Amino acid sequence: MSAQVRPAVGASGLATDLNAYRQALRAYLGAEPRLDRWRGARYTTTEERIRGHGMLMGALHRDGWNRYGWPEAAGGLAGDERHRAVLYEELSAAGLPVPEPVLMLETLGPPLVRFAPYLAAELLPAYLRGEEWWGQGFSEPEAGSDLAALRCRARRDGDSYVLSGQKLWTSHGATARRLMCLVRTGSPESRHRGLTMVLVDADAPGVSVRPVALASGRNELAEVFFDDARVPASRLVGAEGEGWAVAMYLLQFERAMFAWLSATVALRRLRELRDMLTARDGHRLPDGSARRVGECYADLVALRARSAQTVRRLAAGEAVGPEASVDKVLLATAETGLHDLARDLLGAEFVLGGPPEVEEWRADWWYSRASTIMGGSAEVQRTILADHVLNLPKERGA
Ligand SMILES: Cc1cc2nc3c(=O)[nH]c(=O)nc-3n(C[C@H](O)[C@H](O)[C@H](O)COP(=O)(O)OP(=O)(O)OC[C@H]3O[C@@H](n4cnc5c(N)ncnc54)[C@H](O)[C@@H]3O)c2cc1C
Repeated sequence: MSAQVRPAVGASGLATDLNAYRQALRAYLGAEPRLDRWRGARYTTTEERIRGHGMLMGALHRDGWNRYGWPEAAGGLAGDERHRAVLYEELSAAGLPVPEPVLMLETLGPPLVRFAPYLAAELLPAYLRGEEWWGQGFSEPEAGSDLAALRCRARRDGDSYVLSGQKLWTSHGATARRLMCLVRTGSPESRHRGLTMVLVDADAPGVSVRPVALASGRNELAEVFFDDARVPASRLVGAEGEGWAVAMYLLQFERAMFAWLSATVALRRLRELRDMLTARDGHRLPDGSARRVGECYADLVALRARSAQTVRRLAAGEAVGPEASVDKVLLATAETGLHDLARDLLGAEFVLGGPPEVEEWRADWWYSRASTIMGGSAEVQRTILADHVLNLPKERGA
């Protein structure tokens, strides 16, 4: 690695000069040989992939790059959401993965910093180093779209809360070190008023985690059972009863930052698909496919443009609120479009089996089916937009 791209750690100015940060980061990513092992790396299991990506976070952390955008009190080097957005974009442009643990870091980190800064100071540094990652325990068997119906209970007992109940569809749940859970502290009928957010250690007595394999065969998700699991009251994120406000704050980041980083990855994947196809066929796309490739690119660029605006708003401290559902809907459209394109252009190999890069497209295609469900289904996002952004009149009979 050349001397001039060496260390961002604490480099003055990078936290306040976004362009300088981008240039220095780009130079580093282009020159650092230690990063080569993550270029084009393939993993056979989710567990292997997340651990491998945790190590990439460690490498980025060593020279400070993934600490920008997080407060110094939480192990960061200052800056804002735009620094994080630039990191994900530059990683993708350099042919590197956006580390998998970042998906939940972007979802759970911001509410922790905002509602429990003391916990962020204690626990976020290890996450940034890639030594641990967390899961989000919101959904339950009877509470997904209707989140306020959730039943997992937390009862106050001295300096602790005692949790009983179940969570389902927890991304990264099988390997997560901690779980940020939305639980009911109010009466069963209290809906969104009786909820509290709490950070639970996944290895605490009374917590058991069972991996859930998706159609791809990979353990991307988990179900989590709480059997009188004791959690210190100091692990509350926000006050008791404030869980809904914390969750709404969190969802802005889950929808908007996730849309941004997914767009950077999808643009890289589209480039890789084009390169794979043209390398096979005399440097031309298959006949009749250029229009669909162009449409897919246009969807991704539209998502990127919208998402950039949302990231800027979050960085300015604005409440994006229900408008983040626009980003979520655009993301679902672009993700399904990209993977359907790959399925159609890769043809028989996609269906019957082919080289590892084609296998990877097939596994990703399965996962892309979830993009209209995870983080709130597409139907529910459209209802949010109709009711809270466009203020459309209610449908008759609704
Ligand atoms: C890959 C993946 C990862 C996930 N990761 C997590 C995670 O980390 N943490 C977590 O807590 N959850 C996670 N989830 C769960 C996800 O948030 C829920 O699946 C989602 O909110 C939908 O809830 P549900 O599955 O209970 O479906 P339901 O709410 O039962 O919905 C079923 C269908 O009915 C439709 N529907 C429901 N209500 C309405 C309505 N009012 N109007 C119109 N249509 C409606 C929905 O659109 C959907 O098509 C994940 C899901 C997936 C697929």
